[in-house]
Amino acid sequence: MNSSIAERLRSGTMLGAEGYVFELERRGYIKAGPFVPEVVLDFPGALRELHREFLRAGSDVMVALTYYAHREKLRDVGREHDLEAMNRHAVRIAREVASEGDALVAGNVCNTWAYDPDDPATRETVRAMYAEQLGWAAEEGIDFVISETNDYLGEALIALEVIQGLGLPAMVTMAPTQPDETRDGYEYAEACRILAAEGAQVVGLNCDRGPRTMVPLIAEIREAVGCAVAIQPVPYRTDAAAPTMQALRSAGQQAFPIALEPFACTRFEMAHFALQARELGVDYVGICCGAGPHHVRAMAEALGRVVPAGKYSPSMELHPMFRADVSAKDAAFLHSWNA
Ligand SMILES: [Zn+2]
Repeated sequence: MNSSIAERLRSGTMLGAEGYVFELERRGYIKAGPFVPEVVLDFPGALRELHREFLRAGSDVMVALTYYAHREKLRDVGREHDLEAMNRHAVRIAREVASEGDALVAGNVCNTWAYDPDDPATRETVRAMYAEQLGWAAEEGIDFVISETNDYLGEALIALEVIQGLGLPAMVTMAPTQPDETRDGYEYAEACRILAAEGAQVVGLNCDRGPRTMVPLIAEIREAVGCAVAIQPVPYRTDAAAPTMQALRSAGQQAFPIALEPFACTRFEMAHFALQARELGVDYVGICCGAGPHHVRAMAEALGRVVPAGKYSPSMELHPMFRADVSAKDAAFLHSWNA
């Protein structure tokens, strides 16, 4: 039980599940716009339930919902006084559900919106934000840290230093919002190579791009580094014309962030992606904003896992219309559907 992330990575492809903020927003527990995870304190049962759904679907990691639970964002919604409680409770809830299965617990930090590569003073602001969040997480008990949706390599390196200072393994992923490079001008593969050289155990990409436009970038990263590689795309149909979810347009309107449904990937597309990523030698295959438990279960089963939610995986041969021995009476329905 509860081996380290290094041992898990050695024993095969790991499966991750994220997108807590988007899913809990859809369920009515997080406000779109600020996207601060107030659900942690206001509706802990709702968060616990989503963790459990991802666990049952096969996720190897329960990621503490501390995304945007940093000082800058809590100030925006007038809840700075809840900062410590929100961070500690998020880790406790993740730990509690992880222990129902065999999942690791990850602490989580993200881009702060406070970092400015041209203003050295912001480095210390960012460092202090990460230090307080991860200090609380480490005290509550985590197995490793995911630093994610990094726009700037410089900011990601600060997170890595803080994680290393706590003696924890680090997974650091960049958000590929731009065509080729980070906001501070590093090609994604080069940014990952630097993070790996600085000691990150896992590097890669998460969020913003769907599988189709993220996979080509991860192939370059796989070539560039010797350490473990992670990919966690959004389950949306991004393409060459709209390589990120932010670029998707529906009837001329920006679909991001709360009208993306027309572009949602099916579970079959995400299962195909999981196999494709494993084939490329990716070690940690996951999913980000937009994920549902059905995606995660399909990915887990594509990777050959037997998971608790698999008890209810589709058996379409038992559907009255799709079974081999569909009755003459019911075949009339099928005929009219296909007419
Ligand atoms: Zn995301």
